[in-house]
Amino acid sequence: MMEKENARYSGGLKNGNCVCGARAVNRDSLEGLLREMERCAKAREVPILAEAARPVFLRTVREAAPLRILELGTAIGYSALLALRESPDARIVTIERDADMAEAARSFLGRAGVLGRATVLVGEAEKLLPTLAGNFDLVFIDAAKSRYPDFWLGVQPLLTKRAVVVADNVLFRGLVEGEGSEEWPKHSYRTMVLQLREYLRLVRSATGFRTEVFPEGDGMAVSWRDE
Ligand code: SAH
Ligand code: MG
Repeated sequence: MMEKENARYSGGLKNGNCVCGARAVNRDSLEGLLREMERCAKAREVPILAEAARPVFLRTVREAAPLRILELGTAIGYSALLALRESPDARIVTIERDADMAEAARSFLGRAGVLGRATVLVGEAEKLLPTLAGNFDLVFIDAAKSRYPDFWLGVQPLLTKRAVVVADNVLFRGLVEGEGSEEWPKHSYRTMVLQLREYLRLVRSATGFRTEVFPEGDGMAVSWRDE
């Protein structure tokens, strides 16, 4: 357990058998770079977008055709790169609290040639949100699961009229709703599961939004604003 935590958080991203963005090459094919990021994430147990959820994410980005994207939870920049690849005119502001992770993301995005369209902010999303100026067409919530309700409320003033808010992992291992979620969640997951339930309640009851929850991957909630 300690070892896992260390691998993930103690600057381990720059060491070991996984290069994780350290190579300064600008000519990588994007596909090759994405595969390298997937391997890096796997080796370091970084929870990037699940493969099964990628089509839902990409389709939503395509439909939204965003000019400004906000992401909470950058990790190594995988979903940010997917979003930028899918929307060539878009810029992204992405927030990550782990400085090593943010550094790896900058490096990968640089190698992909899209760093000019990306701003990677290091800090707690809940603290940085109130400092942002608005007009985001697409928000991707993928940071601390127990803060999703706060994130939902925090991003409201930043949304355009036709914005879409996408939230990853909302069904968290099937524990949030549906079959298998009847038991009181075990202690280590309790706050997270209860807050994810609250998130789904909030988005489903929000006026001016239409929400669909996709079961793919770890569950993805897509909330379109259509007032
Ligand atoms: N969106 C990424 C994966 C993000 S994993 C992708 O799909 O490629 C979640 C990330 O959120 C982790 O890197 C973690 O360090 C970060 N995180 C967790 N809580 C946070 C918070 N409160 N503020 C900012 N970042 C946070
Ligand atoms: Mg996720």
